[in-house]
Amino acid sequence: MKELEEKIKEYGTVLPGNVLKVDAFLNHQVDPQLMLHIGQEFAKLFANEGITKIWTVESSGIAPAVMTGLEMNLPVIFARKHKSLTLNQNMYTADVYSYTKKTTNRISISKKYVDANDKILMIDDFLANGQAVEGLLEIADQAGVQVAGAGIVIEKSFQPGAGELKERGIRVESLARIQSLSDNKVEFVKD
Ligand code: 5GP
Repeated sequence: MKELEEKIKEYGTVLPGNVLKVDAFLNHQVDPQLMLHIGQEFAKLFANEGITKIWTVESSGIAPAVMTGLEMNLPVIFARKHKSLTLNQNMYTADVYSYTKKTTNRISISKKYVDANDKILMIDDFLANGQAVEGLLEIADQAGVQVAGAGIVIEKSFQPGAGELKERGIRVESLARIQSLSDNKVEFVKD
């Protein structure tokens, strides 16, 4: 998505550890016009799939997920993150390790908002090692719902998440794919 790549080029900065900082438009300050266009793009890519709900993880996935839900006229559920959580029978839960924060969070979705006939679309801001999406897949598995795929705003293609998901047969659609962040430079995958 050209507009997204231009934003990354203009405002993205590379931090140590192959982390791309995009808090000027995606996960701190948010550019609503860009989010709207991202939502429109995901809605187009996943049209006619019989999707009933959008799932994401708080907090950075919420902006693109809500715009996708708006475009597709579907409810959006964000899994909540907790440092520790006593097991609750009313929740589906999964543990997610974050390589950027070096912590494990338990994510949870209330059973109240899950229907056995659901077909979900997962949306997230980044796909790196794939832990966040794996957590959502684990919850989808527990709940017995169908999965249409994952819509990712920025895929770090040099990390294993996207490849592993595709190998498992999960459809992954990424709007920007980054080949490398070496030497503090953002290089996109050439299609
Ligand atoms: P994964 O679970 O695929 O390793 O990483 C996904 C999560 O880690 C995303 O939801 C995002 O919050 C965070 N993340 C991973 N890589 C980056 C990055 O380069 N920049 C930022 N800002 N967040 C990242």
